[in-house]
Amino acid sequence: MQELRDTAGPRTVAVVGAGPSGLAVARALERAGHRVTVLEERDTVAGKCQSVHVDGRAYDLGGHICTNRYERVARLLTELDVETERTSRYRVLDGAGGAVRQSMAFLRDGGLQRYRALREREFPRIGEPGLAHSARALAAPVADWLAEHGLQSMADSFGTGYTAAGYGHLDDDIPALYFVKYAEMTGLLDPGPELLGHSGDFTVAGGFATLWRRVAEELKDVRCGVRVTSVERREDGVRVRTDSDPLDADDLVLAVAPDRILPVLDATDEERDLAARIRSNAYHTTLAAASGLPEDAFYFLAAHTASRERAGHCVSYHHRYEGSEVRTFYSYGRPEEVTALLREDIEALGGRLTEVHLQRAWAFMPHFGSADLAEGALDRLDALQGHHRTYYAGGLHAFELVECAVAHAQDLVRRHFPPVRIGEPSTGP
Ligand SMILES: Cc1cc2nc3c(=O)[nH]c(=O)nc-3n(C[C@H](O)[C@H](O)[C@H](O)COP(=O)(O)OP(=O)(O)OC[C@H]3O[C@@H](n4cnc5c(N)ncnc54)[C@H](O)[C@@H]3O)c2cc1C
Repeated sequence: MQELRDTAGPRTVAVVGAGPSGLAVARALERAGHRVTVLEERDTVAGKCQSVHVDGRAYDLGGHICTNRYERVARLLTELDVETERTSRYRVLDGAGGAVRQSMAFLRDGGLQRYRALREREFPRIGEPGLAHSARALAAPVADWLAEHGLQSMADSFGTGYTAAGYGHLDDDIPALYFVKYAEMTGLLDPGPELLGHSGDFTVAGGFATLWRRVAEELKDVRCGVRVTSVERREDGVRVRTDSDPLDADDLVLAVAPDRILPVLDATDEERDLAARIRSNAYHTTLAAASGLPEDAFYFLAAHTASRERAGHCVSYHHRYEGSEVRTFYSYGRPEEVTALLREDIEALGGRLTEVHLQRAWAFMPHFGSADLAEGALDRLDALQGHHRTYYAGGLHAFELVECAVAHAQDLVRRHFPPVRIGEPSTGP
């Protein structure tokens, strides 16, 4: 088996999941000369970066904001000639709709310098793809970690945006690793280059899903609406059975959260044990029309991001198009409560919910808890790469942001799938 893998001939690879991770893996594999089939259970690609249209305008239900740290995504956008535009400005509101000044004291009160020194000493690789390299140093619950290092002003500057974006409340026991990775990816901690001519954050004109459709269009074999029913990994290859044709391949890339694929996987004890430790946040997008609310910005609702006690209430909303009442609203909590609490929150802000177009519930941000990180859960996951012909991509390894997903996926291919040398014989079935 090992001998087969070390050849530089083309390999056949089954990729499960056509979100940014799976599509980035597939693109990198094909560019390296390998043969790829992508299997996606939904009817469309893009995963948590779906876009929908209402009255001819595109609304992003999930991932779409890119910062000046999004170099890999920017390269993809350039290669595929996808048009970008700047995103809305950010504003913070209190529960009654009044403006709140976001404290950026951290950038000026010496906190940033202390943070940089700490980063240099304890987690210098945090900006690199993946999370495992920094996990043990940042395993502590974020509130404890901030207090231990006198970095509370970092929470004042980044906590509202972090919670509004679905990563949990800072008074919950989320490990510092995720907060720090988020803060790094905002691009505010270090001056970065201008990307694609945008001095600030940017997105895809016409909806972020456009990018992923373009990636998929260039791939040779993407199958949507396919349910994987079993995965069998043997010495000589992988067999993926689906509700249509079975697929045989040399290797398997699971670009889905491991706990989601577990029921159909011939999982090892190690895979089962790790999957059982995965947590995620119940996070919802509601696309709805509302009148009487502040417009023309991405609004964070400070009263609901400050503490987990308010979980279920709307944490943010995005008003993207002038002259439209449609907004995307974001909330944690139980799906059955989301609309009722949203109506209440909109009224408290002085507005009125007039029509709900649709709602999406996400198992957002697959992650490990502090104890598991401290004991090396991400190292164990990394050690599984390549075992039983299986590779893993996605937010659990990379962090739940598009740039992180793409960077990790591309590096996975670079490390484990050498480019095919012209003239090498095929090793595929
Ligand atoms: C509301 C929201 C807002 C966000 N905002 C931002 C943002 O502004 N900027 C940013 O960078 N990121 C943002 N993100 C995060 C970003 O969307 C994710 O990091 C990114 O989509 C992760 O890509 P992925 O491919 O790893 O996973 P996913 O996007 O989750 O894709 C996984 C794919 O696998 C498929 N799948 C699952 N199980 C199976 C199975 N058994 N068989 C076949 N297919 C399967 C799924 O249908 C899905 O298509 C946001 C996410 C959400 C939900």
